[in-house]
Amino acid sequence: MTSVKQTILTGDRATGPLHLGHYIGSLQQRVELQHTHNQTILVADMQGLTDNGLTPDKVSSNILNVVADYLAVGIDPTLTTICLQSKIPPLAELTMFYSNLVSVSRLERNPTVKSEIQSKQFGRSIPAGFLTYPISQAADITAFRANLVPVGDDQLPMLEQTNEIVRKINRLAGKDILVECKPILSHVPRLPSTDGKNKMSKSMGNAINLGASVKEISQAVKSMYTDPNHLKVEAPGQIEGNVVFTYLDAFCDDKQYVANLKAHYAAGGLGDGVTKKILEECLQEILAPIRHKRESFLADKQELINILRQGTESANQTASEVLDDVKAVYGLNIF
Ligand code: ATP
Ligand code: MG
Repeated sequence: MTSVKQTILTGDRATGPLHLGHYIGSLQQRVELQHTHNQTILVADMQGLTDNGLTPDKVSSNILNVVADYLAVGIDPTLTTICLQSKIPPLAELTMFYSNLVSVSRLERNPTVKSEIQSKQFGRSIPAGFLTYPISQAADITAFRANLVPVGDDQLPMLEQTNEIVRKINRLAGKDILVECKPILSHVPRLPSTDGKNKMSKSMGNAINLGASVKEISQAVKSMYTDPNHLKVEAPGQIEGNVVFTYLDAFCDDKQYVANLKAHYAAGGLGDGVTKKILEECLQEILAPIRHKRESFLADKQELINILRQGTESANQTASEVLDDVKAVYGLNIF
């Protein structure tokens, strides 16, 4: 018996190079899943513009960086469709149709959007496109009939809103023409920034990028938030909220070794300089091969463009079919 492959859609805003949060929260899973699933990855340039309407360079200059990051971590364009959002017009059209199904108050209730509005200090001058980006994300997901979405936990409210739209369209259609989706969360669904205050984010300037230099990695680890009350090496230190241990949990494969370090630190006698050194070695080891591959992919921009163009062509076909189905629901396929 042949089993039908499940379908994955996921993506990243082209607002900066990808970072360790992406790697641990979603990219690693995508690399595994591409062997067993139909996977499409969207470079979300239009979504990137929702809070960069007047700073478009920030988005356009990062499109190929993001593609290079994908390839550097092991996304294989022969297994995964990599495509560019702005070159897939059905996504914008679906967004328009879905916009009529979602109230402004529902958009304002989305907890991720709510906290982003606060941290970006938009107040009432929030761009309409930013408030409605969960609708465009619903268009992205449904346009590929994706039932699985590997994401960090900040995206859960978006998937909830997507499924509400799917149910409304299916109710209008009187049958299931769109598919509901489920998240795939990693073992680290939200990597904190090095200061421990926020989620690591491209837009907040608090990230360790996948292309970070040896020096940048070293400086980032040295500046990491630990236990502010751990003033003497002999004194017991606190593990909870200590970003060095959060990162060791996330990135060090030897769990027993990390457990022993934690016990030692909690008992006293282990200094922050030592734990930081151990973490730095681990991150340098993970990032060195990614950095080198990234550099060599970026050296051939035309090849990156070719990959993106090919993926975008095939993505357009799939998305056009879904758009046709949605237009039919509205009785608009007159000719
Ligand atoms: P921006 O600040 O521009 O919003 P970002 O760093 O939040 O950028 P996105 O492009 O918004 O990155 O997110 C892409 C994917 O990576 C999403 O699935 C998101 O949940 C995941 N992700 C982003 N940051 C983290 C993080 N710190 N930990 C785990 N997953 C993350
Ligand atoms: Mg984000």
